[in-house]
Amino acid sequence: MNSAPEIKPLTKRNLLDFDRAGLEGFFAELGEKPFRATQILKWIHQRGVSDFAAMTDLSKALRAKLEDLTEVRLPEAIFDQRSADGTRKWLLSLGGSNAVETVFIPETNRGTLCVSSQVGCALDCHFCSTAQQGFNRNLTVAEIIGQLRYATQALAEDGQGQAITNVVFMGMGEPLLNFNNVMAASRLMTDDDAYGLSKRRVTISTSGVVPALYRMAEVTDISLAVSLHAPNDELRSSIMPINDKYPIAKLLDACRNYIAGKPHRKVTWEYVMLDGVNDHEEHANQLAKLLRGIPSKINLIPFNPFPGAPYGRSTDERILRFQRVLQAAGYVTTVRKTRGDDIDGACGQLVGKVQDKTKRRFRREQAQAEAH
Ligand code: SAH
Repeated sequence: MNSAPEIKPLTKRNLLDFDRAGLEGFFAELGEKPFRATQILKWIHQRGVSDFAAMTDLSKALRAKLEDLTEVRLPEAIFDQRSADGTRKWLLSLGGSNAVETVFIPETNRGTLCVSSQVGCALDCHFCSTAQQGFNRNLTVAEIIGQLRYATQALAEDGQGQAITNVVFMGMGEPLLNFNNVMAASRLMTDDDAYGLSKRRVTISTSGVVPALYRMAEVTDISLAVSLHAPNDELRSSIMPINDKYPIAKLLDACRNYIAGKPHRKVTWEYVMLDGVNDHEEHANQLAKLLRGIPSKINLIPFNPFPGAPYGRSTDERILRFQRVLQAAGYVTTVRKTRGDDIDGACGQLVGKVQDKTKRRFRREQAQAEAH
C-alpha cells in the first residue's frame, strides 16, 4: 500500500533577517534584479509594511512568490510599560521562554532606543544583573532589527512619529560576541532606504572584546562606547573577568585603532559608579592619565542596584567630585541620568525579573495547553 507523501511544513524566510546585500543575494536566487532589495527595504523598514499585497511596485507574480517563500515576522510584545518620565519598555517574546527588553528614552532633542543583542550574556560583570542569567543564545538579525521596527511602529501608533533618532546596543548581551548579526542589523539601521540613522547615532557598547574591535574597524564606523569601569587592571579584573583575557592596554590599543583616521570621532568611556569600589578621587586621576591622547568622552553611570547586588551606588557628592577631576583634566564628562527607574528600565536591570515573568508565562501557557 502506498502511503501518502509526507508533507513537510515549509519554513518561510523572515525578510527581516536580511540586510541589503542579503536581500540582493536572495533576489538573485529568485532570478530577480538587485533593485528589488531597495524596494523591499523601503516597504518593510521605511514604510513599516508587512503585507506583500500592499507592495504595489512589485509584480503580482513576485508578490505571490514572496507570499509563498517568505514572511515579515516581528517579535511579539509580552508587555509594554511606561514610566512617569516618558521612558517606555517593551518585553519582546522570541519564542519559547526567551524574551528580551527594549527601552525607549525620550529626551528634549532626541529619542534613544536601547536594544538587546543576546538573550542573557556569557560575560560575568559582577555589577550587571544580566550576568546572573547566564548566556542563552544570540539574537538573529530579525530579532535585533525587529526591536527597532517594533518600537518605531508602537511609537507612531501613539502619535510619536520619527521619535527614534539614536540606537544604542546597551540592552542585554555583549554585541561584539554576536558580531555578524549585530553588524548586519546596524547596516539596516544606517541604510537610507531602511531607517536612515546617522552612523554617529548608532552606538555599539562593548565590555572590550579586543579581536572583535579590530574586525569592527574593518567593516563599519558607527559610534563606539566602551565599558571601562576601572582605571587599572587589578580593579577592572576584580569587577569584569573579561579583563583577564583582554587587559586595559590591549583594549585601549584596539580603541585607538578603531577611531584612527576617523575625523572628529571619540570613544565614549562608560564608568559605572560603585560606592567605595572604583569612585575614589585617585581613580579619577588615574583615569585622566590613562586616557590622555585618546579623543574621549566619559559617561559616569550611577550604579543601578538589583536584588543580591554586591555593590551600592556612589553618593551624588562622590560622583560630582569624580566628574570635577575629569573635567579639570580636560575631558567632557557627563553623568547619566537614571531614567525609567519606576519600571526597572535602567541599565543592567533589564533581566532577572524578565526571566521570571517569561518563565511564569511559559508555564501558564503549557498548563493551558495541557488542560485542553
Ligand atoms: N555588554 C555591553 C552592553 C551592556 S549594558 C557592555 O558591556 O558595554 C550597557 C552598560 O550598562 C554597560 O556600560 C554596562 O557596564 C552598564 N551596566 C551594567 N549593569 C549596570 C548596573 N547595574 N548599573 C549601571 N550600569 C550598568
